[in-house]
Amino acid sequence: MIDLRSDTVTKPTEAMRQAAYEAEVGDDVYEEDPTVNKLEERAAEMLGKDAALFVTSGTQGNQIAILTHCKPGDEVILEQDAHLFVYEGAAMSALAGVQPRTIKGERGAMSPADVASAIRGEDIHFPETGLICLENTHNKAGGAVLPLENMKTIAQIAREHHIPIHLDGARLFNAAAATGISVDRYAALTDTVQFCLSKGLGAPVGSIIAGSADFIKQARKWRKRLGGGLRQSGIVAAPGLVALNEMTERLVEDHQHAEKLAAGLAELDGLTVENEVETNIILVNTKRAGYTAEQFLDALRAEGILAVPFGAHTVRFVTNYHITEEDIESVLTKVNQLVN
Ligand SMILES: *Cc1c(COP(=O)(O)O)cnc(C)c1O
Repeated sequence: MIDLRSDTVTKPTEAMRQAAYEAEVGDDVYEEDPTVNKLEERAAEMLGKDAALFVTSGTQGNQIAILTHCKPGDEVILEQDAHLFVYEGAAMSALAGVQPRTIKGERGAMSPADVASAIRGEDIHFPETGLICLENTHNKAGGAVLPLENMKTIAQIAREHHIPIHLDGARLFNAAAATGISVDRYAALTDTVQFCLSKGLGAPVGSIIAGSADFIKQARKWRKRLGGGLRQSGIVAAPGLVALNEMTERLVEDHQHAEKLAAGLAELDGLTVENEVETNIILVNTKRAGYTAEQFLDALRAEGILAVPFGAHTVRFVTNYHITEEDIESVLTKVNQLVN
């Protein structure tokens, strides 16, 4: 199978398995796991933040950030297709008791003017704006990179209103690989950051959240409340360290493969590539070829290719480190047969 469903389907590398085997461990609830501590220090350093916390998943990291920044009754401003709004089971409402305020963006980027006008003024009737969330790269927008300038302008508005910003940077390293702008320059524009070790970076488990020392202290308590306080978690943190040390630079390969796949698919009859492919995600519209997304996925599966539906006629392909140049060529050959 050529598995292009997600960059989460990767298996740990040999180096990751070896690191897990050899990891020095302790009880992380007592903050005594040397491997977890090392991973958190390394992540904080790479992001240019005071402190970081190893969490079980991107969703847990995002939700801990909201729980830490906000109080019940607050409002959170975010883009209408944000992962935090669409794909986290309304956790911000269910767990933090906050209300989302969505704004339609352009390729995942909210206009700073829209953000400014969504910030609530003083009024006994209104909720209080507790947080602004950004997503870079933006999943629903097809791995689109949020421009640094857009983030800068929103950061300035947030600062003027004393509202914190959280960056859902599940794929922040993809943004950095695509633009050459280092992750700490993006992170410097936001109070807190979440990124996934278990997506393009290939680790089996976990995400990082990072921010000020005080924020991480409170976040650690929320993690415990959510049942995310783990014991000898150095076993799963060790592959995360390998991910940070060995897997960030190679993301450009995934992007090259995605570009090649997108260019090839765009030439085929009846298929349209919906997004401008900047990173590792390709959204393909199958309508003119006479397929619904589900029909197209069935046909792909019969050819040994996996992808996921992303709309009635939209299919998402994601490249990852298992996917080779030969895989891309093979996909193009087989899809060509399907649409002809
Ligand atoms: C995958 C993803 C998450 C959630 O990460 P999980 O580890 O799957 O919980 C959050 N935000 C974005 C943008 C994502 O793509």
